[in-house]
Amino acid sequence: MARTREDPIAGSKSRRAFAAASRVIPGGVNSPVRAWKRLGGNPPMIARGKGAVLTDLDGRRYVDYVLSWGPLLHGHAHPRVLRAVADAAKRGLGFGAPTTAETELAELLCAALPSVQQVRLVSSGTEACMSALRLARAATGRELAIKFDGCYHGHADQVLVAAGSGCATLNTPDSAGVPASISGLTMSCPYNDAAAVERLLLKHRGQIAAVIVEPVAGNMGLVLPKPGFLEGLRQLCSAHGALLIFDEVMTGFRVGWGGWQVVSGIRPDLTCLGKVIGGGLPVAAYGGARDLMAHLAPLGACYQAGTLSGNPVAVAAGLATLKLASRPGFYPRTAARLTRMIDGLRAIAARHGVAVQFSQAGTMWGYYLSAAPVTDWTTAQQQDDARWRRFITAMYRAGIYLAPSPYEAAFWSSVHTQRDVQQTLMAAEVAFAEAS
Ligand SMILES: *Cc1c(COP(=O)(O)O)cnc(C)c1O
Repeated sequence: MARTREDPIAGSKSRRAFAAASRVIPGGVNSPVRAWKRLGGNPPMIARGKGAVLTDLDGRRYVDYVLSWGPLLHGHAHPRVLRAVADAAKRGLGFGAPTTAETELAELLCAALPSVQQVRLVSSGTEACMSALRLARAATGRELAIKFDGCYHGHADQVLVAAGSGCATLNTPDSAGVPASISGLTMSCPYNDAAAVERLLLKHRGQIAAVIVEPVAGNMGLVLPKPGFLEGLRQLCSAHGALLIFDEVMTGFRVGWGGWQVVSGIRPDLTCLGKVIGGGLPVAAYGGARDLMAHLAPLGACYQAGTLSGNPVAVAAGLATLKLASRPGFYPRTAARLTRMIDGLRAIAARHGVAVQFSQAGTMWGYYLSAAPVTDWTTAQQQDDARWRRFITAMYRAGIYLAPSPYEAAFWSSVHTQRDVQQTLMAAEVAFAEAS
């Protein structure tokens, strides 16, 4: 059926199915960005995925750069991952008792991450960040925390704190339903601004339990840390007795083997993981030095638990995904192919006179339709929204699936083919022409 200007993307079956969803699920979705509000609110309903290609209910195919928002390092329905899941499922879906697969995953994570001697497995990045902050408070006996504008650490009350507001405006929640007494425990600074963190540490001397940061920011588009920023946080935290938490839920096993702490050589006190380590199923984790982790129940007084934590089927998907990525040269090789595609996109944008800021960290990438460099949430918001809308709509029409918001990172997999890249570059010719 013809695509109209009002609804250029979702076909008639998707639209009917989404209307049905919207009757019984708030906004039709189980996580808000899936509703495509910024693009008119009619997302394609996905029927299946294979490799780098998604197929929707109307049979439209897309080259996928969302990849379930990051977890699918080897694309959809990778045969090795499916086999591991099927084998685990045959042995039972879960026991609520220890299994050796959990030890295997924990050993792998501890070996890969130099700052981590022990990990606790949980089921979502939200839980990982929430629990790491609780542990930081338990270990330091302090209550306050510092985060950064535009960084996302899941949807626990305490980290839903206004992004974009100035540093130390104490502190309106980002969501209705979050008590000010809870959001007030978290202060937010501009990303890439260690001096702002120092001011807060001095002002609230002896009260800051933790500084939590995405070492590469992937929830405001993709923003890289400036040289010295993370090193500065490390020094400040050590000097003030606060714990440095790297939220590597997105960067873990995406930017390289382990995470950004391996790439950068900076050692956080606590690390949060998720996304890739579950290979598309719900696995996340947080970890650190053994003496810190000893604060957790049943060893210590800091409580944290989960009926589905370390679920054996989910853990099998994660292990299979990580084993595929552990081959020598996997990350440099996979990232180099992405670099070549970005070079192609950059050349096309330049030819059409469209100012674009591209960025890449391993198998993550991002783009802003902006003439000035993007270093934080304020500069991220200066991109040209109308141009972005024209660009992204044309990309969808040409069968390229990017996030329906300019403030999300894009992803790349080991199974994107040269054909997928060709299709993407051809789509970009049209899309950058539309955006010019
Ligand atoms: C996705 C994400 C989270 C939240 O993980 P969920 O599994 O969605 O709860 C936390 N932190 C970062 C950096 C993320 O990208």
